[in-house]
Formats: sequence, structure tokens, C-alpha cells
Amino acid sequence: MASRSCEPVRAALARTFGFQTFRSERQESAARAVLRGDKDVFICMPTGAGKSLCYQLPAVLAAGVTIVISPLIALIQDQIEHMNVLKIRACSLNSKLSLEERKMVLSDLNSAKPDIKLLYITPEMAASNTMHSIFDSLLARNLLSYLVIDEAHCVSQWGHDFRPDYLKLGSFRSKAPGIPCVALTATAPQKVQDDIVAALQLNQPIAVFKSPCFRANLFYDIVFKEILNDPYINLKAFCEKTLGQKDSAGQFDGCGIVYCRTRDGCQEVAEELTRRGLEAKAYHAGLKNSERTVVQEEWMEGKVPVIVATISFGMGVDKANVRFVAHWNLAKSMAAYYQESGRAGRDGKPSFCRIYYSRIDRENISFLIKKEIAQKQSKRGSVRSFDKSSLVGFETLVSFCEQPGCRHAAIAKYFGDEVPACNRACDYCKNPEIVMRQLDSLQRFEISKAQTSVKMPTSQGPFGYIHDLYEGGRKGYGFERYDNEDVDNESDGESESRKKEWNAFFQKQMKLRKNGESEKDNFVPPGT
Ligand code: ADP
Ligand code: MG
Ligand code: ZN
Repeated sequence: MASRSCEPVRAALARTFGFQTFRSERQESAARAVLRGDKDVFICMPTGAGKSLCYQLPAVLAAGVTIVISPLIALIQDQIEHMNVLKIRACSLNSKLSLEERKMVLSDLNSAKPDIKLLYITPEMAASNTMHSIFDSLLARNLLSYLVIDEAHCVSQWGHDFRPDYLKLGSFRSKAPGIPCVALTATAPQKVQDDIVAALQLNQPIAVFKSPCFRANLFYDIVFKEILNDPYINLKAFCEKTLGQKDSAGQFDGCGIVYCRTRDGCQEVAEELTRRGLEAKAYHAGLKNSERTVVQEEWMEGKVPVIVATISFGMGVDKANVRFVAHWNLAKSMAAYYQESGRAGRDGKPSFCRIYYSRIDRENISFLIKKEIAQKQSKRGSVRSFDKSSLVGFETLVSFCEQPGCRHAAIAKYFGDEVPACNRACDYCKNPEIVMRQLDSLQRFEISKAQTSVKMPTSQGPFGYIHDLYEGGRKGYGFERYDNEDVDNESDGESESRKKEWNAFFQKQMKLRKNGESEKDNFVPPGT
């Protein structure tokens, strides 16, 4: 391993990066662990936490060259520019380089004392012969300081950006088992972390620096849409409760996001909320750019308190006072849900994350995921084991909704963290009985539906059920209808009257429930 300078770390931080302090204790201890170089290091901190510094500072202090693998040329260029502003010699070897530049880089790397501190490459580059010979040469001359793998979740099929080329990095590493390896990522559920350690052949024991996923100021709950009388009333009440009082100018202090899966869904929810007296605006890819900008600005400025958006919204939005994130439709996976709901409460104040769970939604999304998998497979002409991971990620979220238990504990378990002290910051810990009762109601609702579907094999319930399909029924029926947004617009006379019948039945059931009567004996589905 290349030798390291003894300059005090903080002095080096100020001198090279112009930062007087580390951003967090975790950032400092991670950087120091990398600098010591006696262990492989795994760093998992949220985006923006300053992970790069944890290897850039040690790289500057080391005598040799640090090789950094990064998935995108754009990311690499950004990093290199940033390094160059700080007068740190960093460069890349990619197809975008001119012949001249390439020559200069190669000759520096071949010199006895390279000026280059950081060499950024993509995983594809890492597999090339040129790169292998550079690697071998630096290693042989004791000039390889660290091997860094940024966005390391790309190595795992369980991550959200699987890149098969990342898997080849293992062979790179096996040539230099003694060179300290640093893996960095913002999202690593336990499975992903295990994959990273295995695929990159990290030496055990590794030093792990991981921000806990627990956010004590977020209250999580799940509401079953199907057993609500009017889900919009519930949503509006939720928004208003979490937004609090308006100020003298008639504005709420904070704001909120409702996520919907489709454009039509966004439009409808925004209209329903507005019609009920809470101003909400839709935001999705179907709007003109100019319209979208206006909606976003109005929301950012607090003029419109609620934005109803497809998930594409929020990526670049960093608004501290988001008081609630409601999912009107399920997210794509547990990891995605954690990300999206995590946009609430960045200011540390109490904020609320609610899923409006529905089994129709579950079926819809699971169908779409399966379709996507099938499409990928037919394009490629082969079945790969990792194809199923998106489905598993989604099913984890389904269990999160359907299993009774502390929601924070479930999230922590998913990310491989210790069980946090929830302190009644979820529906289950606050009142497990309500959660159990809700599950029970859903169960009863399913039974009633199943019984009805025996009588009416192709009919729909009042909320757009297609019974056969929903129960996993006959093949060849209905799947193609899943893409059709308005499955419940069927309006022949028979289905209309059945809808009415169901509504009456349903209202009666809800009333019974509210009065606390046992519905068991009175449970008579319509049409029997
Ligand atoms: P990550 O990779 O974790 O998403 P970056 O490494 O890109 O985050 O850092 C995000 C921003 O934080 C960068 O602009 C970086 O310069 C800045 N930053 C990192 N460490 C510090 C620090 N100790 N003090 C101030 N700013 C910092
Ligand atoms: Mg980064
Ligand atoms: Zn809890």
C-alpha cells in the first residue's frame, strides 16, 4: 500500500477542501477509517451527506493513486470538475477523452511519482485491457492507494440500479486483496449490503459507517382504502390535520405531497380535494413544462398547500417543511417507499407518512411489474434470476402494509438496522387494536367478496373489483384490462343496480362496525 502523510486530518480538510469541520461525526470517522487503511470500509449515508469526502481526503493525503469506479460519465465529469477547482489532480480514462489527453494521463500514471491523485473510471472501463495493465503496473510499483466503488448498490440485483458490469469488479479486486477497498452508497437494504460485500470481495471484518434509517419525527400509518366509506374524506381530513392551522394570511405553515401512480389519478385526487375545500394541484408528465413549473412554484411558495404528483416529482425537490406524504397508490418497492415518504419532515418537526393501501392496487402494480419482467425477458430471450427482484421488492412493501407490527421496526429490519425506539410514532405502536381491527375488516371484506363472486362470476364490486381476476380466477380474462384505467366505468343496467346493492350493503356494514356490534352474525353479502 502507498504511504500516507501524517498531516493532521482536520488541517488537511481545511487546506484542501476549505471546510473547517466535518459535516458529521459519521463523516469524520469514516474518513479516518479509510485513511488508516487497515480495513475495507462500507459507507452508507443519504445523498448529500458528503460521502465522497470520505475517500477524497484520504486520496489526497496518500502518496499514490486512488482508483474510483463510478457508474456514469456525467457523475465522473462532475467530480473531476469539482476536484480541479480545488486544485486536486483528478482525471478519467473514458471514450470522451481526446487522444492527446489520454496520452497525458497514461504518461503521468506511468511516471515514478504520478501527480494524479484520483482516477475515475466506469465499470465498463475497469474491464478493459488498458485499465488492467494500469492497475497491475500501479500495484507492482506500490502506487495504488485505494480502490473505491461509488454507488456500490449497482452491484446488487436487489438495488434499484443493477449494473451487471459492476459484478466484474470482483476480479479487479481479487488481484489486489491487500489494497483497502471503499464501497459507498445511499441506499442499502441488508440484502444489498450483503451482495456488495460478497461481489466486491471485501475483507472481513469490514468497517461499516451507516446512517440509521430511523426518522423519529415521522409517524407512519396504513389505511385500507377498500374499507373506507369515502377515502377522499379521509384523505382531506388527514391533510388538514397534519397541515395544522392557517396563518392570518390564510396560508398553512407547511405543505404536503400526495403520490399517485397515474396522471388521471393525480388529476382526480386534486379535483376531489379542491372540491372539498382543500386546494390541491396535479403534477405529472402529461402537463406542459410551463404548467408544471407554475404548479411546482406555487407549492414551493406555499400558495398551494397540496401537490398531487406521480413519483417523478420530488427527486430534486428539497423542501424542509413537508408535513405529510400520502401514497394514494402503492410505491414500487419498499426501498422506493422509504425514499418517497422520507421527503416528509426534513426540518425535523413531526410529520406524517400514510399509505392508502388497496388490494386492487396491489394486483394492478404486481401485474405491471410482472409484465415488465416478461417484456425484458422476451427482449433478451432468456430468464435471469435477478428479474424477480423487483417483484420481491414490491412484495416486501405489501407485507409492510398487511402485517401487523411496528412500522419503524419493519423499515429498520429491511435496512438491516437495529430495532429503533418507535415511541408510538406508528399506528401499531400507538394503538395495535385499531390496526388489528382494520386487518380483520379487510379479511371480512375479502370473504364477502369471494362469496359474492361465486354467485356473480364476472361482476364487479362497487369499487371496481373484477372478482375472478382478483381471486386469481380464470385464465385469459381481464389481465389485458388492468392497463385500462376505467375498469369500473361499466354501466349496463345490471351492474348499476348491483353497485347500488353493494353500496347499501357496505354502508350497513360500516355502520354496524362503528356501533361496535359484532358483524359476524349479521354478515350477509348481497345477492345471497
Ligand atoms: P454524497 O455523495 O453523499 O451524496 P457528496 O460527497 O456529493 O455527497 O457531497 C455533497 C456536498 O456536500 C458537496 O457539495 C460537498 O462539497 C459538500 N460537503 C461534503 N463534506 C462537507 C463538509 N465537511 N463541510 C461542508 N460541505 C461538505
Ligand atoms: Mg455521491
Ligand atoms: Zn412503531
